[in-house]
Amino acid sequence: MNGKPLPLRKCVACNQMLPKDQLFRVVRIDGQAQVDLSYKAQGRGAYVCKNVDCIALAEKKRSFNRALKGTISEEVINKLKMELENGSR
Ligand SMILES: [Zn+2]
Repeated sequence: MNGKPLPLRKCVACNQMLPKDQLFRVVRIDGQAQVDLSYKAQGRGAYVCKNVDCIALAEKKRSFNRALKGTISEEVINKLKMELENGSR
């Protein structure tokens, strides 16, 4: 939008580097993982492509658990799927 290139981030499922607007960010704050739609939350973050395959793969491989060094609740995965369905503005 403003011509500034977006930083690339790696998807935890397919390991591709993508501009972060094509990825969902999950961040761990005080041991609690949550979806960070602002991309601005402080804390350890991990990214996954905005597509159902990568989210499913990340869930299956427990990629977020590894990336965030903690257990990611099913809620977080469900939230990602919901955001995807909503077309995540
Ligand atoms: Zn991916």
